[in-house]
Amino acid sequence: MIDIPSFMLALGVGNIAFAVLMAGYTHGGPPNPGLRLWMWARFGIGVCQLLGWSRPYLGIPALNSIEGAGWVLAVSLEVAAYCMFFGFERWRRVLVPISALALGVVFAAASAGAPVSSVSMLVASIVALFAAAMAWILLRPRSHRVSLLQRIIGANDGLFAVMVALWAASGVSSVPMGQGAAQEGVFMAGYLLMIVNGFGFLLLCKQKDDLEMTRLATTDSLTGLPNRHAFLERADLARQAALRMQQPLALVMIDIDHFKQINDRFGHATGDEALAEFARTARGVLRAHELLGRLGGEEFAAILPGTELIGARQAAERLRLAVRGATVITSGTSYTMTVSIGVVVLHPGEALGAALARADHALYVAKNGGRDRVETGMPQPQPQRYALA
Ligand code: GH3
Ligand code: MG
Ligand code: MG
Repeated sequence: MIDIPSFMLALGVGNIAFAVLMAGYTHGGPPNPGLRLWMWARFGIGVCQLLGWSRPYLGIPALNSIEGAGWVLAVSLEVAAYCMFFGFERWRRVLVPISALALGVVFAAASAGAPVSSVSMLVASIVALFAAAMAWILLRPRSHRVSLLQRIIGANDGLFAVMVALWAASGVSSVPMGQGAAQEGVFMAGYLLMIVNGFGFLLLCKQKDDLEMTRLATTDSLTGLPNRHAFLERADLARQAALRMQQPLALVMIDIDHFKQINDRFGHATGDEALAEFARTARGVLRAHELLGRLGGEEFAAILPGTELIGARQAAERLRLAVRGATVITSGTSYTMTVSIGVVVLHPGEALGAALARADHALYVAKNGGRDRVETGMPQPQPQRYALA
């Protein structure tokens, strides 16, 4: 048997402590969208639980409707926090009228003199509906990216919604289970909600921040391609995979011709546009599993898994012609770019650095040969065979 008043007091204090912790976390820094709303929601829930606990001691009838309205407001804020976190655009249009209607119904029931237990059941039904909405937001069936963390929090919201709905049902019909057991179930689920959702929302924010930090650290902001560090890291993973599966792996190095002249003639901003246009064109030519990255300046590289030298050369030619055919239109002027390309296929067991040096050398040959061309690197040296006399 659970001592409900003590449990309610512990839940209230716990939720307010969470809110205070989040106030400290969001203070002074740019908070994640939704975190501040979430903080107020937890605070509101905590206050309502304390009001519920103090109800028998205070015995002020007006507090019952205030507590009910507080619950509706707090769970509305919680739903709003999720909507903001997941970047829903028109959530206000739906949520504000629904919350206003729910508040109106609670106040109307209280002012019409409905018994405290009936108002409580009405509020419980509304809370169950909002908790179900939160579970739906987290577990959206049509969303492709539902992380395990989201699933855990969503399942917890779903459980809470079911428990509160059962409790509300037991109040009106006493059929599903005894009211005492249903109430204990609600409090246990409420405790889980405080722990799982309290930490869960913070973890969701952290997960989002971590992903964003990784994206910023690995992406070249101008072209949207992997930057040098990320490209080399992924290229080396591709090299190891190719070695394991005994598959060929081609490395293509690309340098835009006379890029300095583009900057000098049209300005640095136009040069930037040209780099972005090159990246779009090259990405469009390459297949989805082929990796393209910006090594720095106007130098790019691509990794083509499962591709022999002939195929890699053909791909490089396609890329060269596509860049040649793409016109960069700036305000007023338009021009075309050309690229020089060096292509190599990695020798079995060859280090990435050595292959890059060979591709760089092939690129140098292409530049010296007049630019706007593809050159292939030295073939793998064959073991010398000596005929026995
Ligand atoms: P080559 O045909 O021999 O490759 O000549 P190039 O002019 O392309 O090569 P060079 O190395 O002389 O010049 C590269 C230029 O690329 C110089 C540098 O200012 C410019 N550059 C490097 N990074 C950026 C960038 O992010 N934006 C712009 N607009 N220019 C850049
Ligand atoms: Mg260049
Ligand atoms: Mg260069």
